[in-house]
Amino acid sequence: MERMRVVLTGGAGFIGTHFTAFLLNKSHSVTVIDNLITGKRENIKIFIDNEDFKFVEQDVTKFIDIDGDVDYVLHFASPASPIDYLKYPIQTLKVGAVGTLNTLGLAKKKNAKFLLASTSEVYGDPQVHPQNEEYWGYVNPIGPRGVYDESKRFAEALVMAYHKYHNIDTRIVRIFNTFGPKMRPDDGRVIPTFIMQCLKDEPLTIFGTGEQTRSFCYVTDLIEGIYRLMLKDYHYPVNLGNPEEISIKMLAELIAEIAGRKIEIVFKELPEDDPRCRKPDISKAKKMLSWEPQVDIKTGLDETVKWFKNYTGEV
Ligand code: UDP
Repeated sequence: MERMRVVLTGGAGFIGTHFTAFLLNKSHSVTVIDNLITGKRENIKIFIDNEDFKFVEQDVTKFIDIDGDVDYVLHFASPASPIDYLKYPIQTLKVGAVGTLNTLGLAKKKNAKFLLASTSEVYGDPQVHPQNEEYWGYVNPIGPRGVYDESKRFAEALVMAYHKYHNIDTRIVRIFNTFGPKMRPDDGRVIPTFIMQCLKDEPLTIFGTGEQTRSFCYVTDLIEGIYRLMLKDYHYPVNLGNPEEISIKMLAELIAEIAGRKIEIVFKELPEDDPRCRKPDISKAKKMLSWEPQVDIKTGLDETVKWFKNYTGEV
């Protein structure tokens, strides 16, 4: 594999940090652009001494100026958890719209390949189960999640337009719920929230009845899938996620068991437009990328709980 120069927006976030480590490990050069509104400087500290790594602290909704040749532009920057995009609704819309435009412009100028990190949220509260890439989704554009869903839907439309009209070599990955070490303990997502509640001996907050389902992919599996897609000559969206579906109530029980805590639950109101179910159809990725998740949820949670224990000093 030839050494590539990759520009990665959002490289100080959860998935971005894992992807940076993966690419550096394969001896590629990585320039991370991040404005650190939800990403963390602490995440990228470990790369600072690596001469293949460069960090640019910048908002990608401002013009992006990068020196030298670039082989790939990967656009991962966005608030991505419900509490983050509720806190930063305008920034979320801008990074999906103007940020995608700027990063596509960079790819066009540098004659680089482009990959957009999209999301299963483009399917909204799906009426088709499991979700395949041909499903157009069921999204409330003006609901609280609309800022994220529509920003990514617009971003996908923009990527396809640049591909069709400017011949840019693009890819789109639709990322389903992903978890693992380095998630922010306060990002509001269900797995870090439940783990932190267990470690602090607080009751686990289940929203609604807990019968809603999600399908959680361990981060190393996701990264491997994204890398394979990066190297593939395919321009339509590809789902990546783990099809092992679990209810939020069962997830709570599993996390309490792994953390070695007696479960205590408080039920809270279900947030507006919270999808009732989500499970990826990964037939396309399986066939095209010879990819499927290797890490089951229990193994992944074991690793994640261990990491959070270390992080909080409770070893
Ligand atoms: N959830 C919950 N308690 C929490 C946080 C989340 O019951 O403290 C639920 C949430 O309502 C949703 C599911 O867990 O049904 C997954 O939420 P998350 O924010 O992780 O991701 P998303 O809804 O974007 O899939």
